Amino acid sequence: MGVYHADALVIRSREYGESDRLLTLFSREYGKIQAIAKGVRKPKSRQRAGAQLFTYAEYLIHKGKTLDTINQVSPKESFPHLWTDLDMSMAATAMAELLDLATIPGQPHPELFTLIFSSLFLVETCDPALVQSAYTLKLMTQLGYRPRFMECAECGQKIQGERHLFSPESGGVVCRTCQTQAGTSIIGRWVSGGSLGLMRQLLKGDLEKISRLRWNEWMKKEILDTLQFFCEQTLDRQLKSWSMGIRLVNVGQNPSGKDDLNHERSVVDRTGEN
Ligand SMILES: [Zn+2]
Repeated sequence: MGVYHADALVIRSREYGESDRLLTLFSREYGKIQAIAKGVRKPKSRQRAGAQLFTYAEYLIHKGKTLDTINQVSPKESFPHLWTDLDMSMAATAMAELLDLATIPGQPHPELFTLIFSSLFLVETCDPALVQSAYTLKLMTQLGYRPRFMECAECGQKIQGERHLFSPESGGVVCRTCQTQAGTSIIGRWVSGGSLGLMRQLLKGDLEKISRLRWNEWMKKEILDTLQFFCEQTLDRQLKSWSMGIRLVNVGQNPSGKDDLNHERSVVDRTGEN
C-alpha cells in the first residue's frame, strides 16, 4: 500500500527545503516517525496547523524510500495553553526534546506516548517544572534507566545523611564507603536530602497526584539541574532547551527561525549560569 494512518503528536518541527517542514511525530502505535509536510510554509497551505509543534492529529502518511511524506492531516488537539504561558511552554519543549533524543524511529513505546500526552495537559493545572521532573524520571525508568535513590547504586547499602553523591554512571546515589573505595573518582553531583526525597516521590507516585507535592525555588533548580545531568550523561546527548530555556513561536510567525523554537536567554534564564 505504501500509505498508513497515525494518530501522532508533533514533537519537533523544522524548516526543510523551500517551503516544507520536517516533522518528528510520536505516535502510540509506531513510536517516533519522521515525515515531510510539503508546502506548509506557504501562506495558503491547509496543512499548516498540522505542522505546528505539539499538534496532535491524525496523519495520513505516504511511505517513502528515505523519508515519509504527509498526505493529509486532521488536527485533534493543539494544547493552546502551551502557547500562552512561558513556564508551560518551556516544560513542554523540554519534555518533547527529551523524548526525541531518547528514542529512535520505528520502535513503538505506547507508554511513552501516554506519558507525554498526559503531561502536556497536566502542565496547565500543576507546576510545569514539577510535571517535567516527574515525566523525566518516568521516561528514563521506562527506557530501563530507573535511578537508585533509596540505596547505594554500587553496594546496595541504605543511604543516610544530608548530602548525597548522585552518579549517572553508577545509576544512582553512591554511599560514602563506595566513594572512598573507588579506585578512580566517581563523576557525580551533590544532591540534598530534601531534593532526593522529592525525586523519590516523583519517581514512585502517580503523575496525577503530583499537585500535592511542594518545593521551593532552590530545590526546583537543584532537581532540574540533577535530572538534566542524569539524562545527558546517560543518553550521551545534550538537552539544548533545558540549558537555555526556549520560547515557542508559532509556525506562521517565524520568518527567520529554523525550528519552532526561538532562543531567548534573557527572558527565560533559569539557571543564572548562561
Ligand atoms: Zn556503596
